[in-house]
Amino acid sequence: MTALGDLLTRQIATDGPMTLADYMQACLLHPDHGYYATRDPFGASGDFVTAPEVSQMFGELLGLSLAQAWMDQGQPDAYLAELGPGRGTLMKDVLRATARIPDFPRKVVLVEASAHLREVQSQTLVGADVTWVDSTAALPDGPVLLLANEFFDALPIRQFIRGTHGWNERRIGLQGDALSFGLTEDTRIDALSHRLADTGAGDVVELCPYAAPVMAEISARVSQGGAGIIVDYGDWRSLGDTFQALENHAPVSPLAAPGQADLTAHVDFEALSAAATCQVSRMTPQGVLLEHLGITQRAQALAQNLHGAALDQHVAAHRRLTHPEEMGTLFKAIALTPRGASHPPGFDMASSS
Ligand code: SAH
Repeated sequence: MTALGDLLTRQIATDGPMTLADYMQACLLHPDHGYYATRDPFGASGDFVTAPEVSQMFGELLGLSLAQAWMDQGQPDAYLAELGPGRGTLMKDVLRATARIPDFPRKVVLVEASAHLREVQSQTLVGADVTWVDSTAALPDGPVLLLANEFFDALPIRQFIRGTHGWNERRIGLQGDALSFGLTEDTRIDALSHRLADTGAGDVVELCPYAAPVMAEISARVSQGGAGIIVDYGDWRSLGDTFQALENHAPVSPLAAPGQADLTAHVDFEALSAAATCQVSRMTPQGVLLEHLGITQRAQALAQNLHGAALDQHVAAHRRLTHPEEMGTLFKAIALTPRGASHPPGFDMASSS
């Protein structure tokens, strides 16, 4: 058992079983033993590869989409923001792609919980005007041009299994000395009353308690001007167990080595959209979004200077970002804008907005 595993085992022995949310929070962000606090998990040598690490095209296209939204609004005095920037690669690509746009915002505010990753980001973004805040609540007032890629999937979730009368929450307790999953009694959960109609006994539904406050905070800022683009894996309306652990690119048991594996859950875009107080676009698959933004033309332009293995890698990266069997369909995006503003290029109006 890891040092964090020992800590959590003692905590459960004293306080009783914990929610998946409390477990995820400790495993990912414990200041001494948390996954993000202790390592740089990205890239081929890490545990997973994210879209900005696959190709510079991802950040370039999202940056130019935000830039167009900013021009459409008459170039408000905005700052750039990113939630959970990882290595800082996405923001670096945005700054490069927009470097020649006159008066485009240059002030960057990053929301990052990990001191270790802040250090990595400061190296990637050396020379840029960057400040860090701990949470979205601490972001300055808008207007803002905001990005969040694979941020919401790292926010802690609770999991519920439909029972006969209400829901059994999945909790983490002890079996002997080992961490093990258990269930609470069947209880009524008001936050899930809207899911009684479309679920049956045994169905699993996940709730991300932090998603709504985070969306309220960012949409309040976007309402003052600018735009936001959120990309993550997930779908419209959570159904099924998506709680997963990854170590060295392979799935492992989420309970096996607390703090050593990345823990995530799919994002419920219906819940995110419902929590926004600004205008939200229709949910768009990542592959469709990048095609709308011209990734094929950009890929062809970049390919002209590449040969051999570098060209093969570039072609594979284009496919990886867009193909339905790779990241193209599993990953989805939504855009946030002030009411009445046009969406950033690549996004369609939601039928309800
Ligand atoms: N966007 C990056 C990294 C995604 S990983 C990329 O696409 O490569 C998730 C990121 O969110 C990490 O930087 C992690 O440290 C940060 N993070 C996770 N939970 C957080 C929280 N509650 N508050 C702030 N940052 C958080």
